[in-house]
Formats: sequence, structure tokens, C-alpha cells
Amino acid sequence: MEVKTLQVGPIGTNCYLLCDPAEKRCAVIDPGGDAGAVAAAVERSGCAPCAILLTHGHYDHTGGVTELSARWPEVPVYLNRRDQSAADMYLAQLFPPVDGAQNYDEGDILTVGSLAVTVLATPGHSEGSVTLRCGDALFCGDTLFAGSCGRTDFPGGSIKKIMASLRRLGSLEGDLIVYPGHMEPSRLDRERRDNPFLLQAMRTAESGV
Ligand SMILES: [Zn+2]
Repeated sequence: MEVKTLQVGPIGTNCYLLCDPAEKRCAVIDPGGDAGAVAAAVERSGCAPCAILLTHGHYDHTGGVTELSARWPEVPVYLNRRDQSAADMYLAQLFPPVDGAQNYDEGDILTVGSLAVTVLATPGHSEGSVTLRCGDALFCGDTLFAGSCGRTDFPGGSIKKIMASLRRLGSLEGDLIVYPGHMEPSRLDRERRDNPFLLQAMRTAESGV
């Protein structure tokens, strides 16, 4: 497994290429913009794209999908249905429609070459936020950041739900690698030690509140 990171779009969203160099297949996670640069990175990797995986439906994570889908019409796009099909204009700015997106949800397993990617529903930043796990890598979108967590003041956000999601991620075994939707990567042990939001979420679990 190889992970390549690109920063794309208007606010520097992390777009990840999850590659299986053995089978020369890759998934593109959160192509939030700069589709040309994303496609060039995929080409350089020598891997054929087999899926576009979205951690949630915010525009800064999905902005490059339309152009990439035009280049790769056979490549499926996955987005949890709770972040699809915004009903009104205001929501449609935050959650632009992603044409042809297929739903994925808790417990689904996708394959990228010989790699297995498991979907964990981690709502809170948005209703349809998911974390994608592949081996010891966690692609958290805007649920967990190094030293912080995602905002919950957008439509569909919930502080209660993101705390439950952080508690869930913090309870995973092992010093997993955290690949967030913005800023630098981290390790789960470091976050369990230093991240005030994760610490609060874990304390809430202990006290049962
Ligand atoms: Zn977001």
C-alpha cells in the first residue's frame, strides 16, 4: 500500500491517492479540485484509478469529481447518501450534487487491487461523513484533524455525533496513521495523548455521559 498526498482546491484540501503498487490500481480520496493535477498524479503513479471515494459531500472535497468522472467514465464514485442531493439552494452550495454517486455506508468493504477499504460511519461534521480504513491507515475527512476536529456548525453538523465518532476512532486498536481532510497527518496514539477533542470524547465515554 502506498499513499500519496496532494493539496487541492480553494482551501487546500488533502486529496489522497491510495495505491496498490502490486496490482497497479488506485483509489482517489476527496479530489476537492484541481482535477488536472489529480489526474496527472494518478498517471505518474502508474496505477489505474478504480474508485473515487468521498469522505463527505462538502464542495471542497468533491470539486474535482465532475471533471475526473468525464475523464474516467467507468470509475465509480462513492458518497454516503446522507450527504447527497441537497434540497435547497443554500445547501447545494455546501453540498453540490455529485452526479452518479453511489451510496456507501457503515461496514461496506471496497477493494482497490488487493487492498480492502472498510467504511466507518463517523457523522458529526456532516450527517454523511465517513472514515475509510485501509490496513493501518485512516482517512478521516473532516472528522479528526491533527490536534483538532471538524466544525459542527454547518447544516447537518452535530457536536454530539462528532464526539461519538471521535470516541469511536479513539477506541480503535493500534497506533494507526491518521490522514485528515486538511493539514498534516498524525498518528492515533499522538491524538489520544494530545488532541483535546479526542480526550474530551474519551472522557465522556468513561463517565457514561
Ligand atoms: Zn467538510
